[in-house]
Amino acid sequence: MVERSTSPAVEASLTALAVSLRGVTKAYDNGVMALGPFDLAVRKGEFISLLGPSGCGKSTALRIIAGLSAPSSGTVRVARHEGSVQPGHVQPGHVQPGHGIGFVFQEPTLMPWTSVRENVRLPLRLARVPKADACARADEALASVGLADFADAYPRELSGGMKMRVSLARALVTDPEILLMDEPFAALDEITRFRLNNDLLALWRRLRKTVIFVTHSVFESVYLSQRVVVMTARPGRIQADIRIETVEPRGEEFRTSAAYSDYCRRVSAALAPSYSGRSTL
Ligand code: ADP
Ligand code: MG
Repeated sequence: MVERSTSPAVEASLTALAVSLRGVTKAYDNGVMALGPFDLAVRKGEFISLLGPSGCGKSTALRIIAGLSAPSSGTVRVARHEGSVQPGHVQPGHVQPGHGIGFVFQEPTLMPWTSVRENVRLPLRLARVPKADACARADEALASVGLADFADAYPRELSGGMKMRVSLARALVTDPEILLMDEPFAALDEITRFRLNNDLLALWRRLRKTVIFVTHSVFESVYLSQRVVVMTARPGRIQADIRIETVEPRGEEFRTSAAYSDYCRRVSAALAPSYSGRSTL
């Protein structure tokens, strides 16, 4: 489906956007209404978090943005490398390398039988990038996540945090415009999580990707993002959209500041109605 903007002015205003969802809904085949209507506009280079209770449709929203799942209604537009916003849909079921989106799942989903380098090279192999070039790019991606010395290791030799770094390198290896991250650090211990938070921020500052980060942690969302988009309970809609303004670059001193606590309080208050009436907290 090719969709055209209605006017040059609309087209121009969209060029600054990486992702735009309008009136997006998702009803699964079993009748579950998972999402929407959901509206979201993310500017190029922005770091936003989608925050909401379990089951509110966060993963559904990410999968729709990635083109892994089709919306039941509404419009989805995703920027490509060329810089304009286009209907950004690949065939449901696979994200094509070079499509401009990198996806990091909650589980690192590494192939256990092969090396870290081969795991990171996979998207380039699928895109038939010549081996020497692909290996060089895989090594570069590994260096960017601090794993330059582990290219020949096997996943079983790595800690949980390191596996997640490999997963991040694999998402970055195609140099996507947009990085979608679905609760990537949820299974990690707190110290490892904090370290990965800091490294992700440093990476974002350097690479200037657009990041949409899904989490159910208020603290993590405030620490990382320029905007926290709070979702309602299922079917997920926008409950609040809170801009986090602080001195950049952020570091540990932000995490312990009064401003940080204030933002966490505000975001928690916005999230509270999404939990009301739920029996399992
Ligand atoms: P979240 O990521 O916020 O926890 P999800 O997007 O995974 O939420 O799911 C939203 C709702 O849709 C949940 O009630 C979930 O059970 C349901 N759901 C998710 N995937 C499917 C599916 N493939 N088929 C049917 N229902 C689904
Ligand atoms: Mg989820």
